[in-house]
Amino acid sequence: MYFLRTLCLAVFLAICAGCRSTGTQAGAAAPTEPGQAESNVGAEQVAVAASDAEPAGGGRSFAGNDTLAGSDPAAVVVPRAADSMAGDLLPLVRGMHGGMWSAIGQSRQGRDIEATRVGTGPLRVYLVGGIHGDEPEGRGSIDCLVEALAEGSIAEMASVRIVRDANPDGSEALTRGNALDRDLNRNWPASNFSVRSGNGERPLSEPETAAIHADMELFDPRVVIVFHSARAGPFVNFDGPAGELAGAFVEAASRSESRWHLVPEMGYGTPGSLGSYVGVDGGIPILTIEFRRGQKAELVLAAAVEGVQAVIRRAAIAN
Ligand SMILES: [Zn+2]
Repeated sequence: MYFLRTLCLAVFLAICAGCRSTGTQAGAAAPTEPGQAESNVGAEQVAVAASDAEPAGGGRSFAGNDTLAGSDPAAVVVPRAADSMAGDLLPLVRGMHGGMWSAIGQSRQGRDIEATRVGTGPLRVYLVGGIHGDEPEGRGSIDCLVEALAEGSIAEMASVRIVRDANPDGSEALTRGNALDRDLNRNWPASNFSVRSGNGERPLSEPETAAIHADMELFDPRVVIVFHSARAGPFVNFDGPAGELAGAFVEAASRSESRWHLVPEMGYGTPGSLGSYVGVDGGIPILTIEFRRGQKAELVLAAAVEGVQAVIRRAAIAN
């Protein structure tokens, strides 16, 4: 773990130095990234004007409890030194979380789907590090993000359940779908679920979605955040009553890269998506974070940390 902490610290130092020296211009030097094979079946290509609004569902809420939030031994709180960039670094130097992951299920090919929890606050946030295997950008920030969320004031505001990678088989093979080429973001029990090739024969037919669904119901989140990446990124899409939270993420992420923006509608249908299930049907705010394909790791990490912390601060006020 020493290596991980050192790495996180080094990356944070680089980010902070970059933020101080360049402000919102930090991301302006990377307009294109070569070699981004777009095997995304058009799913994250944005047409902002079009609407794919789904009819509101039955107001589903997660009928879980606070068992996880109240008893997970992985929860660690470290006193915060100061509300400053320098203060943010101190817990990283000390190290807190220690990478305590546990399996909540297995993939088609038997790989563990790992989850952990950080913080002890009353706001329950569920964060998925990645659901499409060919979108590695967000997943790469997860370990450092865990360390950042385990610190003082943020940890006191929120309990964050984090699934490191919802699609470990796809991540290994760099494919959008799982080992059966099922799109795990089309396999949720939303009212708009569509039986078609690639979506699964029924909602939660895939072991990955079934495991995360069960874990999510138990955790009973008030906010859900999912990491993706897209060539049209970086932007934030949302479902449910999440406009303010999405705006908070964009505002914070823009400090490290000015191209972050809000995309209220993806412009195409997303039947059986997590956003449809949680946000449209369930009425729970869910943010779809689309990092830019090939975005520099330090910019992804800066946006992830600053953005998620901003969402927590905003949501905690209303919680
Ligand atoms: Zn995606």
